[in-house]
Amino acid sequence: MRYQSPQPKRRFLAGVSCPKCQAIDAVVQVNITDPTPDEYIECTQCGHSEHRPDPDSISAKNNAEDQLARDAMATGTSGTVKFRN
Ligand SMILES: [Zn+2]
Repeated sequence: MRYQSPQPKRRFLAGVSCPKCQAIDAVVQVNITDPTPDEYIECTQCGHSEHRPDPDSISAKNNAEDQLARDAMATGTSGTVKFRN
């Protein structure tokens, strides 16, 4: 079976209150993989949803990308062969 279910994964967050209606144990964490991997929380009471970005993972990701960019630039400049017209 190669069919992949588009259904997002939902997981209840025990003890978490909705930032909008303050309902406790009504918030689920939703993980989607389509069209792009994403993660957010959703209140089953009022339908409120919002992203919950993890600051640590975001900064780590940015640092990694910066490092990749620097590496690419360093190898690009040092290994560049200049052609004369
Ligand atoms: Zn709510």
